[in-house]
Amino acid sequence: MPELANDSALVVFSGGQDSATCLAWALARYRHVETLGFDYGQRHSVELSCRTEVLARIRTLSPGWVARLGADTVLSLDCFKQLGETALTHDVEISLTASGLPSTFVPGRNLVFLTLAAAQAFRRGLRRIVTGVCETDFSGYPDCRDDTIKALQVAVNLGLETRLVLETPLMWLTKAQTWQLAQNLGGEALVELILEHTHTCYQGSRGQRHAWGHGCGACPACQLRAAGWAQYRNNASGGPGA
Ligand code: ZN
Repeated sequence: MPELANDSALVVFSGGQDSATCLAWALARYRHVETLGFDYGQRHSVELSCRTEVLARIRTLSPGWVARLGADTVLSLDCFKQLGETALTHDVEISLTASGLPSTFVPGRNLVFLTLAAAQAFRRGLRRIVTGVCETDFSGYPDCRDDTIKALQVAVNLGLETRLVLETPLMWLTKAQTWQLAQNLGGEALVELILEHTHTCYQGSRGQRHAWGHGCGACPACQLRAAGWAQYRNNASGGPGA
């Protein structure tokens, strides 16, 4: 069994709000942190350019984080486009499909991402794999569920004969609580970095800068992000729901 360093982590980092918050969470905890992204034929490459920008800027927030943030890897996974159409890989409408799942669901995506993350962590000697999946506000994606992740941890540890740990700091948080977590980890500077430089929009629209960041404002991902931001600001100002 290869040696895994306990205080090291691999963050599955897409360039979105959730994975950027997970990256800060890992940087605050572990001595050595690496990142992993996937080019799976996303319709919009804006996500991949955002991740480069966030990685460059998050280092500047803390001298400790500069020392901790290590290598970044992007793996190419063109095969998802070949498997069939989804709203994230093809120009199809965002809607509920006959299966009851949204058309933004890319079947098998998180299962493959986390299995490849396990392979990378195994090779790099990193004990922990951090992913921003969330069951609270989830968009109906069964591969974001806590039980899916726990089952996958068992499967990769059996299949690799190792002891990796899958960590999901956002699993039970609302989007408002995810903003609060960013505030707790990196203050206003981190919140502003996430607002300005992360990308969540399914349409790949950077366009207008809203209070909650850039995006089309209409797709489910933008609506979730906007509602979470409004709730977070409302809580911060001591309004109803605080
Ligand atoms: Zn959008």
